Amino acid sequence: MTVSSVVIAVDGPVAAGKGTLARRLADRYGYAYLDTGSLYRAVGSRVLRAGGDPADADFAAKMAESLEESDLAATDLRSETVGLAASRVAIVPGVRAALLEYQRRFAFAPPGGKPGAVLDGRDIGTVVCPDAAVKLFVTARDDVRAARRHKELMDKGESVTFERVLADLRQRDEQDRSRSTAPLRPADDAHLLDTSDLAIEAAVTAAADIVSATLKS
Ligand code: C5P
Repeated sequence: MTVSSVVIAVDGPVAAGKGTLARRLADRYGYAYLDTGSLYRAVGSRVLRAGGDPADADFAAKMAESLEESDLAATDLRSETVGLAASRVAIVPGVRAALLEYQRRFAFAPPGGKPGAVLDGRDIGTVVCPDAAVKLFVTARDDVRAARRHKELMDKGESVTFERVLADLRQRDEQDRSRSTAPLRPADDAHLLDTSDLAIEAAVTAAADIVSATLKS
């Protein structure tokens, strides 16, 4: 596929701040934004709604192959249960293969004729768009990430303890890092950005500085 758009890849573990950064970068540069985690969440949610087991590889792959736009609007997409199911189905090579084409098409021919795209996920810089113009790998300490995720869930009215959120986050990171297909890891040419001690605006500025410097060079 000929690459004519500018692609910014934003990868990192759970609740490192990727989504906020990616969205803000897309706004700043006038690029399209894709939250690729929502695709895996939609597959996980679909499996659960159909009464299936996220560990059943054949079933998960079937659900991914027949994913529809309406699945992306499922109301439970951001829940912890669906997050864990997403991480489980994301291990399945057939699920990843089914979602790859959609992600690449979005990156290389962004909707609305936008001149570029920002994708956030786990394997954007390593597998989905290895030739991305800019690659960011966003991290933060476990406790900081769990606190952010916990606040987000409490604000939405979900009653869950900090300890539970921390345990789920560690389990999800472990699943994402240890899988054999497209494991979570920084690309060799990724810029690392640790947001542990950065407020949102400072993190956005730091990310935009990296992007601007890389696009100029
Ligand atoms: O980013 P988010 O936490 O919404 O992603 C949910 C899950 O989807 C992740 O834990 C990961 O297992 C999977 N995922 C993935 N590859 C991506 C995006 C998400 O494996 N590019």
